[in-house]
Amino acid sequence: MNALLPLPRSLRRPAEPGMPIAEVETPTLLVDLPALDRNIALLASYVQNRAPGVRLRPHAKTHKSPDVARRQIAAGAIGVCCQTVGEAEAMAAAGVADILLSNQIADAGKARRLAAIAGQSRLSVCVDDPSQVALLSDAAMAAGVTIHVLVELDVGGARCGVLSADAAVALARLIVGSPGLVFDGLQAYHGRAQHLRKPSERQAAIAEATRLAAAAAGQIRDAGIACPTITGAGTGTFAFEAASALYTELQCGSYVFMDADYARNERDDGADVPHFEQALTILTTVISTPLPDRAVCDAGLKAMSLDSGPPSLQLYPGLDYAGASDEHSKLTMHSPFALQVGQKIHLVPGHCDPTVAMHDWIIVHDGSTVTAVWPVARGW
Ligand code: PLP
Ligand code: MN
Repeated sequence: MNALLPLPRSLRRPAEPGMPIAEVETPTLLVDLPALDRNIALLASYVQNRAPGVRLRPHAKTHKSPDVARRQIAAGAIGVCCQTVGEAEAMAAAGVADILLSNQIADAGKARRLAAIAGQSRLSVCVDDPSQVALLSDAAMAAGVTIHVLVELDVGGARCGVLSADAAVALARLIVGSPGLVFDGLQAYHGRAQHLRKPSERQAAIAEATRLAAAAAGQIRDAGIACPTITGAGTGTFAFEAASALYTELQCGSYVFMDADYARNERDDGADVPHFEQALTILTTVISTPLPDRAVCDAGLKAMSLDSGPPSLQLYPGLDYAGASDEHSKLTMHSPFALQVGQKIHLVPGHCDPTVAMHDWIIVHDGSTVTAVWPVARGW
């Protein structure tokens, strides 16, 4: 192979500190660092002031970035959650000392990878089936490490998780009796509650989740098993878990970046719940203006996720989002607003997590200039 051939963009840094944003090739994932740091500080101080005993364990699936995790931990987080073993490996390699895989694994290869992480960091993982307990125990024993285990309870999310307190007790007993494993408590995350639009709906959902988790924890303790950790919560509901007097950990993820879908949640203006800023944008270039009212830019379905709705054009009154295809977005221009070919604009993605996972690099900036380039730990 000709060594002079340029590397594919995924392997080379697409920008360097000092470069003006206007010169960055698109489509590109941008993070406004001052806004990111304000979001991190805002949640950390809210938790410290309003729920002093509650630990903050932000979800790293949002950013897949050891650089962001380091900033969250410097602000007081005890560690991170991960959703994939690949994320957990990246965080452990970067020195994150306490990692929760807030998810189930179901094959021996991944259990071995988790055991390797447990040799470096405190590692906990969720289960909702006896077969997962056996896989984890075998892997922990083979590697000579301890894996901490939480039983996931379905508290209304209707995804993973055991459906009864009795089932939670049975799994807790199994974990306690399994060599190499330590039972930590309950994973009680209510995913479906996060984007309920009204604060009163979110509050009611978390009240029910708290009731279910308290009942299961009570039954586990009645069986003579300590149940120190009750973990859950996301960006839409954390104020309710923080105030529950039950949850010991909060797993907010999206708050670092935010997105257009979270912006559609109604806020409770009477409460002092933090208002997070949009720190994440997709930079895109107008590549065509075929009609006076139509602009086409170069960020499409492969540059941002539209599963939770289209990107927001809040920064550009006079511009409407008109649809995406693989490598294009169509924008409708309302006169006198007119984009020119070559102009670059910022889209606020509909859903931050899957959007970040489409990119190899986060281009960090201060509003006008690139200040850092951070890798994204893609893959599973
Ligand atoms: N915890 C778990 C288990 C999740 O799956 C998620 C996201 O879906 C979160 C926490 C974080 O939620 P959010 O990004 O809404 O803050
Ligand atoms: Mn999400």
